[in-house]
Amino acid sequence: MIKLIQPYIHFDEVKEDFKEIFDSGWLTKGKYIQQFMQNLQDYMNIQYAYATTSATTALSICLKALNLQSQDEVIVSDFSFPATSNVLEDLGIKPIFADVCLSTFNMLPEEIEKKISEKTKAVIFVHALGNPSGVSKIQEICRHYKIPLIEDAACAIGSSECGKKAGTFGELGCFSFHPRKLLTTGEGGAVVFNEESFKEFFEIKLNHGAVFHQDKFDFVDFGYNYRLPELQAVMGIKQLKKLDNIIQERNQIRKAYIQYLNPLGFQAQEINKEVVFNVQSMVFVVPKNICRDDLITYLYQNGIESTLGTYCLSGTTFCKNKYNAIQKNAKFLEDSTLTLPCYKGVDVEYISQTIQKFLT
Ligand SMILES: *Cc1c(COP(=O)(O)O)cnc(C)c1O
Repeated sequence: MIKLIQPYIHFDEVKEDFKEIFDSGWLTKGKYIQQFMQNLQDYMNIQYAYATTSATTALSICLKALNLQSQDEVIVSDFSFPATSNVLEDLGIKPIFADVCLSTFNMLPEEIEKKISEKTKAVIFVHALGNPSGVSKIQEICRHYKIPLIEDAACAIGSSECGKKAGTFGELGCFSFHPRKLLTTGEGGAVVFNEESFKEFFEIKLNHGAVFHQDKFDFVDFGYNYRLPELQAVMGIKQLKKLDNIIQERNQIRKAYIQYLNPLGFQAQEINKEVVFNVQSMVFVVPKNICRDDLITYLYQNGIESTLGTYCLSGTTFCKNKYNAIQKNAKFLEDSTLTLPCYKGVDVEYISQTIQKFLT
């Protein structure tokens, strides 16, 4: 079976540091997590980075950092993983689904202007499947209307637009280190930002509400524990070093796929000029006359794992029942996109030929 994903981390790379961690007995809040966050800050050219247990907890705490309340509205990209809007539901915030571009799969800028209201307290822009295309424009509009921008860059580590890294355009940026993402720590995530005034909030809230003061903890607020352990940090450090090479490699594979599949009527997710795309997922819109789900089944029967692109948030059973506000393009993309295996050594030719056989 040709698997859909393959983590870019091997035991050999981590075993020495793992041994040191086990020998020292220092399993959390240690030097490795500090190192990982420092490396992340340097890599992204950003002031602050805090590790979390996932992108979901990262997004959730960002909403709290902005002091969003029940009944507030947040405009959110509609083509994403449901975690993006689940965190809003959790706080009683109303998601206002913004439809996406059929070629980049990212939030259409005009949707913000169409859907903004007095209740709009933030925008969550999703870098769909790692693609940052259009984030600069969204940033510009958010600044114009003075609405805070949160980037769901869960998939977008290493991507950039106009030389600026995904996750660093908004007031707050969130990342995921789940195994489906390019850099994985098993589970994990991070929040990044430049604004110094957020620093104290994250330091306290991510530390059970405590500040360390005169040699003891003073619980000045209530808080959470969303910490990433030391062992996980080692995995992150190792992959971050290789990330740019991995991204180059994946772009080569993307090129090869496009060469084979474009002539067959498959349209790859498009990227704007000035964009570095990490190719988190290799996604095509399938030709109109074929059934995407039949193709996934056929590929599976031929030893190839594949899946849909991602989800139309407004179209989940939950959101459909609650809001009845399905966005057309996002729904089309959920139904018509295909993710193919993408990593070093994947047999693009065999996969493409199998797709061609399905068509004939
Ligand atoms: C994967 C993903 C998430 C959730 O990430 P976790 O780390 O699993 O919480 C959120 N948003 C997007 C766009 C994702 O792709």
